[in-house]
Amino acid sequence: MSDVIQVITAPEQKRRLFVICDNCFWVASAIDAEKFDATSCPLCNERISSSPLVDNESYSYNYDERRGVEVDFRSSR
Ligand SMILES: [Zn+2]
Repeated sequence: MSDVIQVITAPEQKRRLFVICDNCFWVASAIDAEKFDATSCPLCNERISSSPLVDNESYSYNYDERRGVEVDFRSSR
């Protein structure tokens, strides 16, 4: 006789990234950081920066010629 042990684990969460071009301010969300390996902007080919997003975090983006870029990160909880 054998025992069957079922291990239940939470589904693996994918790490998300907020991505922005340092030059033209192109913005994107990478939904799986493990598969995201871009280092340059698809529009201007300059360097991009990224920041991790937590599961319940969202952001809004605004650009104004006078004030520049404004990014507002929010927690949905
Ligand atoms: Zn760019």
